[in-house]
Amino acid sequence: MPLPSDATLEPKRIKRWLACRLLDWFARWQRDLPWRKDRDAYRIWVSEVMLQQTQVATVIPYFERFLAAFPTLAGLAAATEQQVLRLWEGLGYYRRARDLHRAAKVIVATHGATFPREPESLRGVPGMGRYTANAVLSQAFEKRLPILEANSVRVLCRLFGKADDPTRNPLRNWLWQAAEEILPHKHVGHFNQAMMELGALVCTPAAPACGKCPLRGKCVARARGLQATIPLRAAPAKATEVRESAVVVRRGGRLLLVQRPTTGRWASMWEFPHDELTDGETHTQAALRLLRERTSLSVTLGPEIETIRHGVTRFRITMVCFVAVFRQGKFRSEFYADSRWVLPAELASYPVSAPQRILARTLASNDE
Ligand code: SF4
Repeated sequence: MPLPSDATLEPKRIKRWLACRLLDWFARWQRDLPWRKDRDAYRIWVSEVMLQQTQVATVIPYFERFLAAFPTLAGLAAATEQQVLRLWEGLGYYRRARDLHRAAKVIVATHGATFPREPESLRGVPGMGRYTANAVLSQAFEKRLPILEANSVRVLCRLFGKADDPTRNPLRNWLWQAAEEILPHKHVGHFNQAMMELGALVCTPAAPACGKCPLRGKCVARARGLQATIPLRAAPAKATEVRESAVVVRRGGRLLLVQRPTTGRWASMWEFPHDELTDGETHTQAALRLLRERTSLSVTLGPEIETIRHGVTRFRITMVCFVAVFRQGKFRSEFYADSRWVLPAELASYPVSAPQRILARTLASNDE
């Protein structure tokens, strides 16, 4: 029976119906993903962290490379941060990688090489929020713990016809409570995954395929034609243009590589010195200024070799890249944490940001 347009739906009252519908649908339509091949908590955890803010198709090759390099929790804990960052390179949001690595060390130090089974044991572990802990424990150990992320929030808001902002209270609290109340007593891991999978494949942000949805019979948004306005979405932030200069300093056959500070964007990663232009500055002036201020080296600035355009969150960045020849001086910097003169062939072993990797590849191809 379709829902009358003025009816309200209560999570507890449709719990059995919901579990039945979702689990049947999931058994039939779930995607074959590498982290679903077994119920190993460590593998699920890595996948959950990688999937934050990132599409499944992007994550798959990263996940496979990461697990090949660090097949166990103990292996990850024993790795260096630079190894972890290098394997994460290109996936973005590098804080996730640093937290994952720090968390692996904390877990191994306090629990040995076994992933804890209780949520209390994961409190305070770096990067382990309520969602991540519950997602891993419900999928790996069938713990009855609710999850809430973008896909399941969208499904719940539409199913129950909640039109307020789901990122704020009181709706946020209501959603957590609802996610808990609808949990079945069996197959919790599959149920939580099914909720997310339905949001990813059917109840999509722009064009939900309601005709194919197992929940269409009771969905309030569908009954009232509100799929386009639920959930409430914040207006997208306006793009900000950023202009930068980067400089590749050559000394004999070697290139200057510098390590970023341990905090802030691209923390601890390596790069060719670069900086934003200040007001009224040209790219050439910025290149000379940043070398003076951030490396203390004296150089002869050469020509532009490449302009790289890329986006980071709401920033649209244009980075003009120059070459320069070292003249004299000793590297000193209050900004960069370290520096090295490296051979072009060694660049591949250093973790760098995506635009800096483009620059490194240009240099490698010019040297061929
Ligand atoms: S019926 Fe449509 S709006 Fe409702 S949960 Fe399914 S896909 Fe989403």
